[in-house]
Amino acid sequence: MAIISSNISDDDFSLRKKELRLVDSKITPEEKRKNNLNLARPVSLQEFIGQEQLMSSLRIAIDASIYRKEPLEHILLYGQPGLGKTTLAFLIANELNTKCRIATAPAIERPRDIVGLLLGLKEGEVLFIDEIHRLNRLTEELLYSAMEDFRLDLTMGANRGARCRTINLPKFTLIGATTKLASISAPLRDRFGISHKFEFYTIDELKQIIVNFSVLINLHLDENASYDLAKISRGTPRIALRLLRRVRDYAQVVKDTNVISMNLIKKALNSYQIDQKGLDSLDRQYLSFLNKNNNSPTGLDSIAAGLGDDSAMLEFVVEPYLIQIGFITRTPRGRLLTASGKKYIDAKNGNF
Ligand code: ADP
Repeated sequence: MAIISSNISDDDFSLRKKELRLVDSKITPEEKRKNNLNLARPVSLQEFIGQEQLMSSLRIAIDASIYRKEPLEHILLYGQPGLGKTTLAFLIANELNTKCRIATAPAIERPRDIVGLLLGLKEGEVLFIDEIHRLNRLTEELLYSAMEDFRLDLTMGANRGARCRTINLPKFTLIGATTKLASISAPLRDRFGISHKFEFYTIDELKQIIVNFSVLINLHLDENASYDLAKISRGTPRIALRLLRRVRDYAQVVKDTNVISMNLIKKALNSYQIDQKGLDSLDRQYLSFLNKNNNSPTGLDSIAAGLGDDSAMLEFVVEPYLIQIGFITRTPRGRLLTASGKKYIDAKNGNF
């Protein structure tokens, strides 16, 4: 039976796809909108794949808090985007049989925003604050007593008429997530009882995530296909699932099938200009630029100017994976292409 009747060619398909960097681990606005309906999210800690060390210490902490009927300690999760910090916050709330309220630090601008959030919590609930390193100082200071003593110390009025008022809060668990641990002030960091780094996932773990999700969306992937997709997912579940969705689009629209082979994955990714290393055109432009500099260290700002891109974006989005696969190194004098990076980009003839 036809899934979607079509006679669309590979070329038409590439033209239709949106201008989006598929291998960027940051969440897109569309993904954010769909986040609450996220089918891919595991529903119990047992279903959460990988991050084993974190999982076992969390299991003990959660069981102990249930046993003692006390709130779970505040938790700080840090690591690259797309590794599962938000997912884990939902899971923790599920395990505690409570609700998880979500906020992002840039949206908590005024002190009254955080006061409103805290006063809206019920006993035992989880408050998840994403990008917690971006809280402003006043908001952060209000959090100190809230985290430590479940109490809000507010100053009402100004100057001589100023009065202090203390409001008791329900006991809650704050889960903070950040990609930049170093930007969190020491007083805030010290108030988290548990602090844990999210590691990149292994290929086998990503493969399992891909297989589980393909069952949910009714795709049939063969063993090699799921391995191939996992291999180029940059150690990041968000990228793995996004690539899988795009492969599904291609398979259904261009090839009219739900069965995904290695060959089909290759063609689909080719139409998005992603190669077998999982690199896209921006990665290749970056490597070509370094290659042109005859192996002398190149400063990030020069690369950004040469590519017409933002240096922070290159530093936090493009470079980590190129470093991870050993194609570039960062030195005090600038970025260097490694021998394997050079071999790769020479083989591509610098044609991108
Ligand atoms: P972060 O908050 O770190 O940016 P998310 O929690 O939003 O990452 O995860 C991104 C996507 O990857 C979500 O769709 C989520 O369901 C999926 N995901 C992340 N980690 C796992 C995991 N360990 N097992 C299964 N799916 C995962």
